[in-house]
Amino acid sequence: MRILVYSDVHANAEALLAVARVAQDQWDESVCLGDVVGYGASPNEAIEWVRKNSTLSVRGNHDRACASGDGLERFQATAGVAARWTQSQLSPESRSWLQGCPRGPIEWHGAGCSHGSALDEDHYVLTDQDAIRVFEANDLRLQWCGHTHVQGGYSLRQGQLHRLKIRWKPVDGDKVCQGILPLEPGEQYLLNPGSVGQPRDGDWRASFAIWDEDAKTVWFYRASYAVAVAQRRILEAGLPPVLAQRLGRGL
Ligand code: ZN
Repeated sequence: MRILVYSDVHANAEALLAVARVAQDQWDESVCLGDVVGYGASPNEAIEWVRKNSTLSVRGNHDRACASGDGLERFQATAGVAARWTQSQLSPESRSWLQGCPRGPIEWHGAGCSHGSALDEDHYVLTDQDAIRVFEANDLRLQWCGHTHVQGGYSLRQGQLHRLKIRWKPVDGDKVCQGILPLEPGEQYLLNPGSVGQPRDGDWRASFAIWDEDAKTVWFYRASYAVAVAQRRILEAGLPPVLAQRLGRGL
């Protein structure tokens, strides 16, 4: 079974369609690690794709805040403006789908799936210490999380933590790059597919991963997309301009 793993679409339909195009015919099932909406200008389009194509979509903090207002008071100003705008745009079907997204962690295909981490859906795994705490939380061989918008992750081998380095290989000029991670026996992994719609690791291209259960490998991907269109739609919607600018920088 090949599984498309993706997260943090953030209502960026242009990025999501690019991911769908690049990953086409390479996956059998797919899982979304949350934050389908928030920040971007296409919440209903993003939800429609995820609804149609993913077996599981764990809720993210933006999904929760846009669906019910829960946690909205803790959002920074820009995120709060975007969440309120999203609430005003959601169709009744989109809102009820968002409200039904389960809180992580969910064990699926033997792997943990969370938005923030297995400890807390709002928890950011940013440091080695954060990662160690997540590994200590359970014995799962593989855990997936999103939320930081940073692609990559950690492995734990005989009590030693390793930060993974992805070795990129272009598959279509600089439009698409991929990097392979073999899942070694005896190691545990905490992986983040990165963000589809608002990467924050210095690369503006949409991020995702394909986990091949039988081959015991994970392929990480970066795919370029029509970023100028996504930016224009954010500005036309009257959302804060900084949300359009940051897409171009990947920060
Ligand atoms: Zn997010």
